[in-house]
Amino acid sequence: MTQNKPPINWPTTLWLVGSLAAALIAAPLYIRSFGFSLFELLVFLVMTYATGLSITVGYHRLFAHRSFDAVSPVATIAGLLGAATFQNSVLDWASEHRYHHKYVDRDGFPYDPYNINKGFFYAHMGWLIRKREPKLPRNNVADLEQSRFLLWQDRWILPLMIGMCFGFPVLLALGWGWLVGVEPLRAAMTGLVFGGIVRVVAVQHATFFINSLCHYLGRRPYDGRCTARDSGLVAFFTFGEGYHNFHHTFQADYRNGIRAWHFDPGKWVIWLLARLGLAWNLRRVAEETIRMARLREKRRDLEHSLSIRLDEMRHKAVEVMASLEKSLDEMHHRSRALWSEYRRVQQQRGAERRRRLREIRRELRCLRREFRQQFRAWEAAWRSVRFQLAAV
Ligand SMILES: [Zn+2]
Ligand SMILES: [Zn+2]
Repeated sequence: MTQNKPPINWPTTLWLVGSLAAALIAAPLYIRSFGFSLFELLVFLVMTYATGLSITVGYHRLFAHRSFDAVSPVATIAGLLGAATFQNSVLDWASEHRYHHKYVDRDGFPYDPYNINKGFFYAHMGWLIRKREPKLPRNNVADLEQSRFLLWQDRWILPLMIGMCFGFPVLLALGWGWLVGVEPLRAAMTGLVFGGIVRVVAVQHATFFINSLCHYLGRRPYDGRCTARDSGLVAFFTFGEGYHNFHHTFQADYRNGIRAWHFDPGKWVIWLLARLGLAWNLRRVAEETIRMARLREKRRDLEHSLSIRLDEMRHKAVEVMASLEKSLDEMHHRSRALWSEYRRVQQQRGAERRRRLREIRRELRCLRREFRQQFRAWEAAWRSVRFQLAAV
């Protein structure tokens, strides 16, 4: 029976492919016409961090996980700048993300929308390309639906995404350019190309990496049963979300990288907001709880390796026993043949009789010695398996 593939989500697919193609065409054309200076680089970096951190700090840690509380202007700025990344409304994003945490690595229904077990590309962006049926209902964000701003952002998300993704960086670059003496046409084009098109593609793939690379690359110190992984390298490209094994184990914590040196700009921004009195109730998992999780994971890992090692040892012992049993069996047959020959020779008469009987007895003595030795080896192997079984 052939299974029909789900239909392609054309608007999203055209956007993903179109924006990438536009970035690849627009950037070289711009550089050929205007060159590339510190101004272009700074517009790109400021827009990348402003919008990327709005997803990390706002969409992810403030809204989806409620890992801290903030004054409404912080929520509003995050909601507006987050829209500039074309990742839909906060309500849609948070709903999918909550399903991802609750049903991580799971297929069936309800499912993990970006399940890494369906492949790297699927987790990265494949899940956006094909419509999946049945759709996950948006029934897990009732707390966020209390906010009038989030309902408004959800209602007007398409014009907001277009305006914030392209209009806002053009205005920003025009104002900035006016201050530093960059001509308006060049400033506007910088905003559109590096603040808009190139930046949105970069931020989108950085966010996609959280669903793909963060479930693919790195260590699992807190919970080896989940595919999420910790990687300082990936954290560098994902605004600090690379400590993903920690995050999946303790999703309520406002931090992803818990050590001071862990690259986590999301954590630093939230901490700074708190210092400025703009955020409060920063949720942190107790140090002891984190250490206990590490300890339990180490124990689970050790038990797993031990059970594999024990299986190997038992397997080897059973193999040795089987080969010993085979040779014991052959010796047994040989001994029975010698005994029947002995009895036959005993019936005979003649000069050869005594010499032949003596030969058979000698052969039987050798055989018995060897048989005892091998029998003891078989018993030793048997005892070692029994001992290992008793130890488990
Ligand atoms: Zn994840
Ligand atoms: Zn999360």
